[in-house]
Amino acid sequence: MTDWQELERKYLMNTFKRLPVTLVRGQGARVWDDEGRGYLDFIGGLAVDVLGHSHPELTKAISEQAHTLIQTSNLVYSVPQIRLAELLVENSCFDKVFLCNSGAEATEGAVKLARRYGKLHIDGAYEVITTMNSFHGRTLAMVAATGQPKFQESYTPLPEGFLNVAYDNIDAIKKATGRKTCAVMLEAIQGEGGVNVPTDDYLKEVRAWCDERGILLILDEIQTGMGRTGTLFAYQQSGIEPDIMAIAKGLGGGVPIGAFLAKDKASVFAPGDHGSTFGGNPLACAAGFATLKYILEQNVVENCLSVGNYLMSRLLRLKAKYDFIVEVRGRGLLIAMEFSSDIAENVVQACLQERLLLNAVKPSAIRFMPPLIIGEKEVDEAVGILGRVLARASKEMVATQD
Ligand SMILES: *Cc1c(COP(=O)(O)O)cnc(C)c1O
Repeated sequence: MTDWQELERKYLMNTFKRLPVTLVRGQGARVWDDEGRGYLDFIGGLAVDVLGHSHPELTKAISEQAHTLIQTSNLVYSVPQIRLAELLVENSCFDKVFLCNSGAEATEGAVKLARRYGKLHIDGAYEVITTMNSFHGRTLAMVAATGQPKFQESYTPLPEGFLNVAYDNIDAIKKATGRKTCAVMLEAIQGEGGVNVPTDDYLKEVRAWCDERGILLILDEIQTGMGRTGTLFAYQQSGIEPDIMAIAKGLGGGVPIGAFLAKDKASVFAPGDHGSTFGGNPLACAAGFATLKYILEQNVVENCLSVGNYLMSRLLRLKAKYDFIVEVRGRGLLIAMEFSSDIAENVVQACLQERLLLNAVKPSAIRFMPPLIIGEKEVDEAVGILGRVLARASKEMVATQD
């Protein structure tokens, strides 16, 4: 049998710390490796596979579009692009859409839009305030926006114009705001930073401050969007509307696509200001349209909310049982379990052995982000496995204390 992991070491740059498993097939919330072993997938392509794997509606849309027209250019009009943009605008607070290919391109484009707004309307202001422990992507500018030294250190000097301040702290944003500030960019819930949920009033306070200072509020909903937190977009639970929003991950149901959306007031690009060869690609847009349409018509968001609440209640029961679980937090189907020590990698490896895929979002926390179409049965199965793994971990901890 081919040793794919050996071949990978030979041919690919070593940038990912991978789990020792090679997946070749998926169906619903299940995936299979190259030796035919099945796994329950609570990583979900990193919050991407919102409809699960090989969803018939999505594969049908992709294959029909592939037979019709895969790529044109943005020198002409494109129907899948227009249909997707219409669906996004009609189901959000925004007026205009720019389509791109990934999350980092979406946040980067959102920042470019805010800078142009600053040039036109705020006396050339260009600085964007972002937060510590945020994640906005891996381009050089988004590494500067991402308030995590571990992503920044190798790449200095970083592009200027970004201030990283404390999250969930309105005073930190107020203090950082100056004459050069054009925008604040935040995640509604910090995803890669550890599923950090801010206090209820935070986004409202930031919104009020941005209005007072005449600067823009950009929400990075790349992870929280597309139903993940129990509403189509997380801002809909916060009582505010951002001026600009970046989305990607779940948007194409697994096909690479990103977008940023803006209110008319902030839609200040003119022809030539921004562009992309693949952005709005018909194949990706057909996938995005089919995914979003299915989410809207088949109560996927409602399912996410109720199954998410069920998962949360099951995890809280585990927390009540074990002292070393210090917190369970999140919303919808974006949840983290925090431990009192750095055992997340071990828990993930042990769950893998029992055929459950989970992510260690940080050394002391695991993250759950399964497809939004799962049911309580899958939750029971996953929590059953995790429960067994934690019971063993608990015994080992007691043994090492003795
Ligand atoms: C994943 C993510 C990104 C980056 O998206 P890529 O598609 O990997 O470039 C940006 N912001 C947030 C909040 C994310 O979760």
